[in-house]
Amino acid sequence: MSKFLHSKFNSGSGLDPYDTSEELESMNGGYVRLNTNESPFEPSVNAIKAVRSAAGTLNFYSDPDCTKLREKLADLMDVKPSEIVFGNGSDEILNFLFTAFCEHGAVFPDITYSFYKILAKFHGVDFSMIPIDENFKINPEDYKNLNGKTIFIANPNAPTGLFLSLEDVEKIINQNPESLTVIDEAYVDFGGESAKNLIHKYKNLAVVRTFSKSRSMAGARLGWCMTCEENAKDINDIKNTVTPYNINAMTQAAALATLEDEDITQKNIKLIKSVRDNTKNRLREMGFEVTDSSANFLFARHKTVSGEKIFEALKRCRIMIRHFSQPEKIADFNRITVGTAEQMQILLEVLKRVIKNETR
Ligand code: PMP
Repeated sequence: MSKFLHSKFNSGSGLDPYDTSEELESMNGGYVRLNTNESPFEPSVNAIKAVRSAAGTLNFYSDPDCTKLREKLADLMDVKPSEIVFGNGSDEILNFLFTAFCEHGAVFPDITYSFYKILAKFHGVDFSMIPIDENFKINPEDYKNLNGKTIFIANPNAPTGLFLSLEDVEKIINQNPESLTVIDEAYVDFGGESAKNLIHKYKNLAVVRTFSKSRSMAGARLGWCMTCEENAKDINDIKNTVTPYNINAMTQAAALATLEDEDITQKNIKLIKSVRDNTKNRLREMGFEVTDSSANFLFARHKTVSGEKIFEALKRCRIMIRHFSQPEKIADFNRITVGTAEQMQILLEVLKRVIKNETR
C-alpha cells in the first residue's frame, strides 16, 4: 500500500474494488464468454461507420452535453432532454447517485448488483440490505420506514433475472416520499416494464438505463438516468464538476447511430428472448432449477451437481459463466449470459457431458 493513500482507505472498510480477474481471463483466454451479460451481436454497421467518422474529430473535445444524442434519446424515451443525464456506463451514473443523494444512507436487496455495496462503502454511505424471500422475490412491504435512505432496486434484478411489477415499484415510491427510489433498468429491454413514465409523476424517482446490453455497446461505456429536472440538474452539476467530458465523441456517434437503427435493436432483443426461453426449457429438462428470467441471462442450479463443479468444468472446456460462492442462499446457482443460438447449443452439449460425468 502506498504511503500516500488517504487514511480513510486504510481501515480495510473503505476500498473494496470490483474484482476484474475473471473478466480479464475470459477476455484473453479464448473463452466462449457467457459471464458478463454483454450482447453477442456486433454494433450495427451504421454505428461502426459513425465511430470511424468521429475518430477523425478526436483533436476536439467531445460535446459535454451530448446535445444530438440527448435530443434523439429524449424523443425515443418520451421524456424531456433536460430530464436526462449521461454517464460513462450506468456504473458512473450510480456513482453520481451515491455521491449526490445518499446522505441519509442507502438500502437495497441482499441479492442484487454487487456494485451498490461497493459504492456505498466507497462513499462511506450507511447501508442496509433487505433480504429477498425464498423465491428470490423483492417484497415492497419490506421497504417501509426507511428514514430518507435512498433505495436501489435493479429491475429486472441481477443475478436472479426476476422483475418487480410496475405496481410494486410504485408502491415503494409512494411508501417512501422522503426517499429517492432508484430503479436500475439495465435489463428492462428483455422483460418487465419500465418505470420511466413515472418520472413525470414522482420527483423521488430516478430510472437508470444502459447501452451495454440490448444496444450492443458495452465497450463504448454509455448509460443514462431519467429523473425530474431538479434532480437531473444536481447530478449534471456533479458530472460537470468531476468529468465534464465523460462521454467521448466516438461513443456519442455510435449511440446516435444505434438509436437511428432501433429496428435492429428490437430484432436482437426478440432473438435473445427466444434463445433465452429455449435454453431455459432445455436446462430444466436436464435437471436444472431455472428462474423465469426477464433479462439476457439465466440463473440456474442443478438438482444434484454443485454450482461450483459446473462452473469449474465449463471453465476447463473454455466456457466462462458466472459463479457466486456467496451468499449461501445462491451458492449453488450460476448466472449464464444468453449468447447466440450456436453458443447456447455448445453450452448445452458440454453441460450434458458435465452432468453425466459428475453424477456417475
Ligand atoms: N446495473 C446492473 C444491474 C448491471 O448488471 C450492470 C452491468 N454489470 C450495470 C448496472 C452497469 O452497466 P454499465 O456500466 O455497463 O452500463
